[in-house]
Amino acid sequence: MQIASLTIDRIREGLLSRQFSAVELTEEALRFAEAENPKTGAYLRLSPERAMDAARRVDERLARGEEPGPLAGVPVAVKDVILTKGITTTCGSKLLAAYVPPYDATAILRVEEAGGILLGKTNCDEFAMGSSTENSAFGPVRNPVAPDRVPGGSSGGSAAAVAQGTAVVALGSDTGGSIRQPASFCGVVGVTPTYGRVSRYGLTAFASSLDHIGPFARNVKDAATLLRVIAGRDPRDSTSAAAPVPDYPALLGGGLKGLKLGLPREYLRELGSEVGDLISRGVDVFRRLGCEVRELSLPSTGYAIPCYYIIATAEASSNLARFDGVRYTFRSANSGTLADMYRNTRGEGFGAECKRRIMLGTYVLSAGYYDAYYLKAQKVRTLIARDFARAFEEVDAIVAPVSPFPAFKLGEKVDDPLAMYLSDIYTITGSLAGIPCMSVPCGNTAGGLPVGMQLLTTHFGEPAMFRLAGAFEDAGGVN
Ligand code: GLN
Repeated sequence: MQIASLTIDRIREGLLSRQFSAVELTEEALRFAEAENPKTGAYLRLSPERAMDAARRVDERLARGEEPGPLAGVPVAVKDVILTKGITTTCGSKLLAAYVPPYDATAILRVEEAGGILLGKTNCDEFAMGSSTENSAFGPVRNPVAPDRVPGGSSGGSAAAVAQGTAVVALGSDTGGSIRQPASFCGVVGVTPTYGRVSRYGLTAFASSLDHIGPFARNVKDAATLLRVIAGRDPRDSTSAAAPVPDYPALLGGGLKGLKLGLPREYLRELGSEVGDLISRGVDVFRRLGCEVRELSLPSTGYAIPCYYIIATAEASSNLARFDGVRYTFRSANSGTLADMYRNTRGEGFGAECKRRIMLGTYVLSAGYYDAYYLKAQKVRTLIARDFARAFEEVDAIVAPVSPFPAFKLGEKVDDPLAMYLSDIYTITGSLAGIPCMSVPCGNTAGGLPVGMQLLTTHFGEPAMFRLAGAFEDAGGVN
């Protein structure tokens, strides 16, 4: 069994033809993950008991001749901001080092219902704040392609596990690029669905109006299959959409003739780089496949970073208030008065990036500055969304880079938050607009570092997005 290169289709075939059982596969996957994980640190912990229980259920279904589910036997890694009942969920934070959730996120329940095997929890930036996974209280993750480099973030552990082959697919979360950017850095597929497409119930809130759960995979079809499983209305998340869930994997294939693609000028301006060249070659592939490509403008793009870092920090400052030494977290040993207890617990527990964001967020929401910053940012957010809406009257999808650069060195940007924030300059706009976007592998730099191409489309336009990505992959990408 070649664990590191398994696909969902291959697992299904193996199970149905009785080449292996789900229990055998899971034992092997756990062994492999345990042996390989020290190279990257992608997993914070494996969950062997839960994995084996799930595998036994799959084998029972198979023995009874029942349909085992679209994810039957598939080893799934899960970012440690997604709650798993009975399995420690730290959010990459010292505050939650010992937190064991009493319930499962809806996405987890759906994965297991579909026969998926929860293999373990993956490292991430603390409360998903970061672009390199270096903001975890439990140490950084190494990029499996280049171990002296970051895997991207904040879902770096999930991207690394899939790239490394210690998981077949993974769940990450994306608020401003945390699925697409690590997917790009590690050379895998990463999908940020339409806002509301996947229930956020059980996803630890960072910035609620921007948070998404989405899949990582080594190919487009596997990502489409996982999204289909986790998508759909959930009565426990009032922002989850009631729109029917298309059969994404079944809609793959078919030509691209006549599809119109937009290249936003603002995203290409500063890219005289290797990344820019690879994206241009990717666009040529689409031309060859029969797409019509035209330049267009998304004029508000330049405001995306400040707009995002006002809205995201404002929401974060409010969401993180719950980690107070009373609920969920450890409590500081230096707890004289109640105020001391709050202050010391939070002071000792949060890392520097979270503290920076709590302060920024509290400031932009304060009475004197609310109108100048928060309200203004909300208006700019509307302008950014309108840019996209206008573009999608003309084109079916937009093609752009994911990040201005490939994976950078560990330590290179940790002391410069602004440089770190710029990693997400091309992903943040899609997040603010709430539209579906994804990263699909688009070749490597001369130094062998993966580069992702971003595809963005209109709300609930995932079928067209997957079709484009699938055809691009079938055509062999740029290599
Ligand atoms: N890097 C961005 C941030 O730090 C995005 C993070 C995310 O998408 N969770 O906020």
